[in-house]
Amino acid sequence: MALVVQKYGGTSVADAERVRSVARRIAERVEAGDRVVAAVSAMGSSTNELIALAREVSGNPHPREMDVLLSTGETRSSALLSMALDDLGHPAVSLSGVQAGIRTDTVYGSARISGIDTARIVRELDAGRVVIVAGFQGVSEDFDITTLGRGASDLTAISLAAGLKADACEIYTDVAGIYSADPRICPSARPLADIGYDEMLELATTGARVMHARAVEVAALNDVDVLVTSSFEDAPGTLIHAEAIMEQAEKVRGIAHQAHVAKVTVRGVPDRPGIAADLFEPLATAGVSVDTIVQNASVEDLTDLTFTVEREEVGRAVGVVEGILSEIGASEVVSDPDLGSVSIVGTGMATTPGFAARMFRALFDHDINIELISTSEIRITCIVRADQVAEAVTALHDAFQLDRED
Ligand code: ASP
Ligand code: MG
Repeated sequence: MALVVQKYGGTSVADAERVRSVARRIAERVEAGDRVVAAVSAMGSSTNELIALAREVSGNPHPREMDVLLSTGETRSSALLSMALDDLGHPAVSLSGVQAGIRTDTVYGSARISGIDTARIVRELDAGRVVIVAGFQGVSEDFDITTLGRGASDLTAISLAAGLKADACEIYTDVAGIYSADPRICPSARPLADIGYDEMLELATTGARVMHARAVEVAALNDVDVLVTSSFEDAPGTLIHAEAIMEQAEKVRGIAHQAHVAKVTVRGVPDRPGIAADLFEPLATAGVSVDTIVQNASVEDLTDLTFTVEREEVGRAVGVVEGILSEIGASEVVSDPDLGSVSIVGTGMATTPGFAARMFRALFDHDINIELISTSEIRITCIVRADQVAEAVTALHDAFQLDRED
């Protein structure tokens, strides 16, 4: 009897009919002899609706109350799914984050899981029930409700799979798996049979939205194999696991993109030790999350420092920099909000030269200007104009022949 942890995303439980259809999917597994723990997301876009509602009520909603509010989305879908299973003749129980023993720190809105006490879940399973856990939420040491960050029901599921030492972890979503690129902008994109943790993590942090980045990290740390597949069709899906097949090592595995990137440039920055700290400390304190950072070689002891942020953070970032401009002796700050990024990812890059050259050539062939470049061992990211992101993705997908079978 295998223990399976599943996760159903928001679109998979978007309305009553879909909740019943997920219940049927779970029922089949139970009838086949498996024990099932399922983590669920909030229905459809209800988390966004709750956020909008909070903003209507308050100009500055308190983070603690925000988490109390947002957690209700998942609580609701867990109760509904449990009812639907009962109706199919399979006893089920919904558990909130607190009841499921998911303990976190107190960073409201992006709490980190510190441990899972699985006793209650195990007891319910032993009593023959299907356990439905409200995703995305936990409880702090003070018994306050916390949420784990947008998209973090994946994290709930993978942490549960690790904590329960489950035999399988399956993430059900609205697409057929992890694609070589976003199929909405790249028609020749195809689902991958498998991908390594490192590659998946790079894709998730540079824009692939199917999987939550920290969830991938937890899977890697605990060596949990994760199958990402569709709840709407019977697709083979993509297995995220310790290592991808050897012959693929030479290839780009996937392309990720971000459509809303802004860059901030600080001009005339004195080139002396401590300046970067002086600049980035206040940004960190203000909670601005900085992505790519580029510092130019200095001319006559003055340099330019450029960094990127998410587009909606650019106003705050510029405000913070303006406040310290004279203090650090820089001349001005300028910003450009209309950028995006495109990244190629593949473990082969660490050992095989030529990926960067091919990427830059392909972008040039499409008249796409590169504004900034950043790299890791297994990733190259180019910042380009926002309106050229889609073309950049398809151009690179063609250039690296990602439409071909593995
Ligand atoms: N409902 C949460 C969100 O929309 C968590 C999730 O769906 O994974 O971000
Ligand atoms: Mg998601």
